[in-house]
Amino acid sequence: MNPLLEVQRLDTEADQIRHTREHLPTRAALEEARREQAEHQRRIEEIAVERLAVIERQRRLEGELGVLEERIAADERRLYSGEVAALRDLQALQDEIAGLRSRAGELEERILEAMETAEGLEARVDELKAAAAGVDARVAELEARLAAEEAELDAALAANRAERAERAAAVDPDLLADYERLRPGFGAATVVTFDRNCVGCPSSMPAVEADRVLHAAPGSVLHCEECGRIVLR
Ligand SMILES: [Zn+2]
Repeated sequence: MNPLLEVQRLDTEADQIRHTREHLPTRAALEEARREQAEHQRRIEEIAVERLAVIERQRRLEGELGVLEERIAADERRLYSGEVAALRDLQALQDEIAGLRSRAGELEERILEAMETAEGLEARVDELKAAAAGVDARVAELEARLAAEEAELDAALAANRAERAERAAAVDPDLLADYERLRPGFGAATVVTFDRNCVGCPSSMPAVEADRVLHAAPGSVLHCEECGRIVLR
């Protein structure tokens, strides 16, 4: 085979390898897994912030409850101290204590609610973390798979380029330069063979032109005057 056709075959193969490398399904799967990973992280952080706010509320309510309990204890000390003698004052003190206890009871309920909410959020964070660990493992697996696939294609491309360099060395430098200049336009069919017609042409070569090529010495290199491709006789 003409070495220029070998060069062209290898260039086409190299393009296919690069295209395959750019469009590896593993890379798309990895990007999807990374998006999922980021979404999990975002949710975990969101719920952690929510949980902190609930815990803060719980602490504040506990502080308020502490103050109330101190007031109740002080009132009770006064109640039993004998300092307050008048029945009316005793009644007022007892009423105040009852009022404070009722508020303390409400606070206790709200504290309990906050604790339950915080526990629920903590459980949700644990669930999300377990799910995130699964996604992390998938990301790691896909990263390793992608690296292996890329390495394999890189090796194939390196072998291809080495062989291309070898074949190109056997091609006339002017012809090679011509091929390289034309290749961006004609791609895999820059160099074509002649089969009673330029095989790259969509329409038939004029008879005179076909005759010119047909009568060229085998192995000679011509340009199709119709399309501009390199035609090997
Ligand atoms: Zn042609």
